[in-house]
Amino acid sequence: MILVDDLHDAIAQILRGQGQRYTTSRRAVVDALNRADRPVTLPDILVQNPDLAQSSAYRNLAELVEAGVVRRIITSDEYSHFEIADHLTGEHHHHLICTVCGSVEDFTVPHELEELIDLASGEVARDQRWSVEHHRLDLVGRCATCA
Ligand SMILES: [Zn+2]
Ligand SMILES: [Zn+2]
Ligand SMILES: [Zn+2]
Repeated sequence: MILVDDLHDAIAQILRGQGQRYTTSRRAVVDALNRADRPVTLPDILVQNPDLAQSSAYRNLAELVEAGVVRRIITSDEYSHFEIADHLTGEHHHHLICTVCGSVEDFTVPHELEELIDLASGEVARDQRWSVEHHRLDLVGRCATCA
């Protein structure tokens, strides 16, 4: 787990590189995401942080996604889920997405499996004359509660 001060420093640097400022309200949104132990929706964030204004939280989330600091996870649910981007937390992982209740869980796979995925995506990339930067793998189905 990355230290929260290091996280804020890294994000401030990324935003500065894009000519943007790491405002107090952006910082509050990042704190809210960092405190959550799974990807959360905007309503989740607002319930847990009643001092955040909905309109500015929404705008800040969109701007942080745009800046590559926050990742938006699209589910079948009406609300996107958000989390701090992998490259900042250093915790590459995947998602389990429930098609019934829209919940999203993080999961990791063993290192050997990650290597197999990279190998397979490398082959696809060669066939398609693509250069691949990284992969995303989400499993879609029903969670333990909805199964
Ligand atoms: Zn479910
Ligand atoms: Zn995640
Ligand atoms: Zn992976």
